Amino acid sequence: MLPERIAKAVTVALENLGVCVACSEQAIEITAGEVKTQSGKIYPADLAVWTAGIKGADLLRNLDGLETNHINQLVVQPTLQTTRDPDIFALGDCSAFPSKGKQPPVPPAAQAAHQEASHLLGSMALRMRGRPIPPFRYRDFGSLVSLGEYSTIGSLMGFLSGKSYRVEGWFARLMYLSLYKMHLYALHGPIGVVLDTLARLLKRGTEPSVKLH
Ligand SMILES: Cc1cc2nc3c(=O)[nH]c(=O)nc-3n(C[C@H](O)[C@H](O)[C@H](O)COP(=O)(O)OP(=O)(O)OC[C@H]3O[C@@H](n4cnc5c(N)ncnc54)[C@H](O)[C@@H]3O)c2cc1C
Repeated sequence: MLPERIAKAVTVALENLGVCVACSEQAIEITAGEVKTQSGKIYPADLAVWTAGIKGADLLRNLDGLETNHINQLVVQPTLQTTRDPDIFALGDCSAFPSKGKQPPVPPAAQAAHQEASHLLGSMALRMRGRPIPPFRYRDFGSLVSLGEYSTIGSLMGFLSGKSYRVEGWFARLMYLSLYKMHLYALHGPIGVVLDTLARLLKRGTEPSVKLH
């Protein structure tokens, strides 16, 4: 879901670290010592970590006959109303927003869920006053990918130019860190941020240096 040039930059950074990135390879069998893929390749492995695939809860598939896609997301109209029942709204990861023309799809990311929530807040107020609901429009402000202590790579959207700019190194890392702290602040307030920062400093030697949620 990330822009192609970020994917490429991250691939290069990973390969420089000695990581082999095998795209479009479907794992078909994992044994004690190797991972086999559809194309016939065999990757020797002492430890295999499977993290592929996202889908909505199965519950959504049969939810009063609402339309869902192949990954159980509720299909919505541009107003975030579900296609089969305008009184039911869906947002965030559980919703599939219609992609239009050359517009990139709305990704299952926090940035999109946040924007949709803010939009829906306004829509609800309008709806209660009997006014029409405007369509949601996703604005991509950019993305950042953290490779822990090795690197941070991303793109930021220029407000005036409308173009995306690649950011890397300490600037990208600083942005990543400040976004993370802002997220913590929204959830836990200032004391929570201070306590979390202190706890992280104390646990530095034992914790992974990437965010694992
Ligand atoms: C490991 C990981 C890393 C990520 N990193 C990033 C990132 O760096 N940047 C980014 O933009 N996005 C990231 N994402 C994606 C981001 O977390 C999601 O896109 C975002 O949280 C979606 O928000 P949401 O409100 O739709 O769903 P969620 O945040 O998943 O909230 C759904 C809530 O519904 C609750 N729930 C589920 N089922 C039921 C039920 N039956 N009844 C009641 N409650 C229920 C859940 O407990 C949860 O609290 C990451 C996701 C993962 C898993």
